[in-house]
Amino acid sequence: MPFLQFKNVDYSYPSGENDYITALRSVSLTVERGEFVALVGCNGSGKSTLARLCNGLLAPDGGEVTVDGMSTVDKSELYEIRKRIGVVFQNPDNQTVTTVVEDDVAFGPENLGLPPAEIRERVDTALKSVGMSEYAKSGPARLSGGQKQRVAIAGVLAIKPELMVLDEATGMLDPDGRREVLDVVRKLNRDENMAVLMITHFMEEAAAADRIIILDRGSVVADGGRELFSAPEIFTDAGLDLPVYVRVAQKLKARGMDIGCPLSAEQFVAAVKARLSADGGCV
Ligand code: ADP
Ligand code: MG
Repeated sequence: MPFLQFKNVDYSYPSGENDYITALRSVSLTVERGEFVALVGCNGSGKSTLARLCNGLLAPDGGEVTVDGMSTVDKSELYEIRKRIGVVFQNPDNQTVTTVVEDDVAFGPENLGLPPAEIRERVDTALKSVGMSEYAKSGPARLSGGQKQRVAIAGVLAIKPELMVLDEATGMLDPDGRREVLDVVRKLNRDENMAVLMITHFMEEAAAADRIIILDRGSVVADGGRELFSAPEIFTDAGLDLPVYVRVAQKLKARGMDIGCPLSAEQFVAAVKARLSADGGCV
């Protein structure tokens, strides 16, 4: 059984008296334990709606969302579901509730009713894994955007979820802040086997995932591994950019130099070197 499963999920928002806006149309997808999945789609494609459906903040109009076999419409399971799935939203300022970093991180485990010693241990571990231990006693207001978002991630980690959903959680950060958050999330996925659903419109983040799901106007239009990038029109048709290395590789191809589909600086350099030496060039 998949850990998170959407089966033919529909969702519409009411708009005016008798009208509605369809945000998701028959969406089916899964996230397995330990997987790192990116969900990409342009503005208004339904990404945040999908994030809110994951942990029962919204209930589907049609179809079903299950977490570890529990349906999100079953109110008696919501507590268990929210222990298993943590969601980090876009704006870190809306996610701090107290004036001291460590109290903020303790908020989730306190709500689980855990004993104080266990809460202390979870807070310390969570702050350590996002590299924010030295800020435990600071006020969240004094932190940079990237640091605040790492504290928000620590708050979710302290609940020890099996899946973390990040809804454009790096959207308000500068490139350094984005890298900090992505590094932390990748490490947790790799070392702690925490599953990740990274909702993003930054293609470099999507290229870091094991699997990519593309949402276009409320529907899933592609779901596959990194090989999706070798058919770039799937992304451009959905209104998305391509990772910078894919764009440069396309330009080189148009000039007669096919280096395949590199997704990182390292892969790009290796592909160019391989191509040049295959051509008998000196590298
Ligand atoms: P994304 O996160 O990909 O930008 P959203 O899930 O926020 O997409 O929005 C999907 C669609 O639902 C859009 O057309 C948006 O205008 C609409 N929508 C989102 N939230 C609301 C809301 N609270 N009330 C009415 N319409 C909404
Ligand atoms: Mg959104």
